[in-house]
Amino acid sequence: MISTIDIKVPVQIFSNDEIKAAAAKVVGIKSSAVNGIHILRRSIDARRGDILYQLKVLVYYGDSYMEDGCESTQYPYVKNSPPVIVVGAGPAGLFAALQLIKHNLKPVIIERGKDVHGRKADIADLYRKSLVNPDSNYSFGEGGAGTFSDGKLYTRSTKRGNVTDVLKIFVEHGADEDIIVDAHPHIGTDKLPKIIENIRKTITAHGGEYHFDTKVCDFTVKSGAVSGVVDQHGNKFEGAAVILATGHSARDIYNMLSASEITIEPKDFAIGVRVEHKQSLIDKIQYHGNKPELDLPAATYSLVTQVGGRGVFSFCMCPGGIIVPAATEANSLVVNGMSNSKRNSPYSNAGIVVSVGSTDIPEYSQYGVFQNMIFQQELEKSFFDKDGRTLKAPAQRMTDFVKGKMSTDLPETSYLPGLKTSPLHKMLPIFIAHRMQQAFIKFDDKMRGYYTKDATLIGLESRTSSPVRIVRNNETLESINIKRLFPCGEGAGYAGGIVSSAIDGINAADKVSELYSNNL
Ligand SMILES: Cc1cc2nc3c(=O)[nH]c(=O)nc-3n(C[C@H](O)[C@H](O)[C@H](O)COP(=O)(O)OP(=O)(O)OC[C@H]3O[C@@H](n4cnc5c(N)ncnc54)[C@H](O)[C@@H]3O)c2cc1C
Repeated sequence: MISTIDIKVPVQIFSNDEIKAAAAKVVGIKSSAVNGIHILRRSIDARRGDILYQLKVLVYYGDSYMEDGCESTQYPYVKNSPPVIVVGAGPAGLFAALQLIKHNLKPVIIERGKDVHGRKADIADLYRKSLVNPDSNYSFGEGGAGTFSDGKLYTRSTKRGNVTDVLKIFVEHGADEDIIVDAHPHIGTDKLPKIIENIRKTITAHGGEYHFDTKVCDFTVKSGAVSGVVDQHGNKFEGAAVILATGHSARDIYNMLSASEITIEPKDFAIGVRVEHKQSLIDKIQYHGNKPELDLPAATYSLVTQVGGRGVFSFCMCPGGIIVPAATEANSLVVNGMSNSKRNSPYSNAGIVVSVGSTDIPEYSQYGVFQNMIFQQELEKSFFDKDGRTLKAPAQRMTDFVKGKMSTDLPETSYLPGLKTSPLHKMLPIFIAHRMQQAFIKFDDKMRGYYTKDATLIGLESRTSSPVRIVRNNETLESINIKRLFPCGEGAGYAGGIVSSAIDGINAADKVSELYSNNL
């Protein structure tokens, strides 16, 4: 017999024997009658004083025994199969490529940035020289924005595909098996580059192709359908279809699509700041002061409130993490957060953002479909340190921001390029600043101690999701204007985050394969 049960075990006594005993009790058998247990899901419940592991467990007993391991994914060799162009080697593009191979199609990956190794040198230049390489940075290059990300693998949406399939592929390429069971799986920026490299090895070992330092600048079209792409040097790459997975920071791609009369539309997104606290404070609040005695992970939080009919919410919270300069263009300032697998930096950070729609910024309506994107771009430029020409980020103590006054000094920070005391309450548009000022007070009702002079607001957090949507046919996932062009991932405006972008890439590859089996 196999039963699926939910149990709670105090974190102090978390061991296989204890789980077995607790599971036996729930099933109504002796502990010795349990043949095996398999944890399906694990989360921490710290809502009350006692901190518990909340587990979903498969219990094997009677004549049922656990089977060993699971089979790894088998890929055919596709070097001589029909080529499909995949633009962008982020999560959407890479998972699309793996799925194309499963369908016996050959992915030809075109990536404007460098491989993970070369990319690291350009990221080092961000810190050493304040230099942003527009093709190789925290968003562009092998693995896309997912490579030096926090590597949180949560997604709210399970409607579009199988999250576990994506997690298993990460495990097959080097991620810890715990990600399959953790309710909030996390890889960490120290492990992601190796995993991305291993994915490349799988793709090339099975006949897929990569072209780095190759920026798509145009499409080729035959009989009303996309037949390939053209790079910055005029080289052409032909394929049975084009999967466009260029992420939400590739503004040049949106311009190219619009010039080619491919329908795009403005999409609501969110803008705000990154808030940095000491991790010890967040642990104290969330674990009720229990963390030092217990071996618990750095505590996380998720906050949301309504102010003036609009959501103000935390975004991409990085416990034990650092804040990084994530602009993709020169003379702009964008921040984002990441952490390593141990999440052991003394700081916690999270975006606190306000949703923005076209009606909030009528002064940008002249830009038509680019209304939100130009607003985002101009705000990023206004946060740049024009005098020093460095990547120093404008910052303010949380309490000063709420009271509307400049900070005379700032707490220590994880943001290595440094901070510049600045009036964020004036630099942010009023409809954003006012809502955030009220939200911080409200957040303190949910997490007593969150609103503090020791928290720093650092701007600008602006790459929360795409400000543009590439309109596609819901059924075929092709662009509504042109056949065999499959916009997918975060840049298409239908996904957000690593897992949902990966799933969207898989779905696009499935649709390409369907087309192919119908002889295109
Ligand atoms: C610092 C940071 C931390 C993050 N942390 C998390 C997290 O913890 N969890 C999470 O779920 N999400 C996180 N994200 C967001 C996540 O990385 C993205 O949602 C995800 O990577 C989107 O995947 P994608 O494949 O759609 O696009 P991207 O990852 O943006 O990849 C697009 C790729 O296309 C390439 N490209 C663009 N234009 C062209 C062109 N013209 N020609 C050829 N190639 C082109 C780019 O170089 C890039 O490699 C983080 C992002 C950042 C920057």
